[in-house]
Amino acid sequence: MTIEVRVDPLTGHSSRILPERGRMPASDLDLEAFARQSQPGCPFCPGRVDQLTPKLTARIHPGGRITRGAAVLFANLHAYSSHSSVSVYSPESHYLPLGQITPRLLADNLATQVAFAKTVMAADPPSRWASINANHMLPSGARCFTRICRDRGFPADHDAAHARGRAPAAV
Ligand SMILES: [Zn+2]
Repeated sequence: MTIEVRVDPLTGHSSRILPERGRMPASDLDLEAFARQSQPGCPFCPGRVDQLTPKLTARIHPGGRITRGAAVLFANLHAYSSHSSVSVYSPESHYLPLGQITPRLLADNLATQVAFAKTVMAADPPSRWASINANHMLPSGARCFTRICRDRGFPADHDAAHARGRAPAAV
């Protein structure tokens, strides 16, 4: 797979262009029915989210999890950068179709991500860049039934690679 890196000659900013992979085939999967089926074992639902999700280290956030409104942010079990988190829109909303995401749910989720990025950058100054990405339930390619955003801080070598106009290897 070839990933094209383009550099804006005016700003020096770079971006990655992924190759066309085609669209997902049409599916008649009943997401709502699957939600009912998967809920009993969901680690992000009430009663389990505080027990089964990994805590942030005390150095990053002494409480282990960051909450804003209904949103709950915790450490990413499968971290893929120096600091990686997951934020659930609302443990109460196991099934949350895109059309039911309210401005409040989105704002609260992003507020947890901003709080996480700020505390990471304060605790680990070389981490100066953050990226927020969203996976929304199975059609997004998520392995489990989720409605989450992920955040990750980058180490200083990202800055050096960015300044050279190249995408960092860690992305
Ligand atoms: Zn759930």
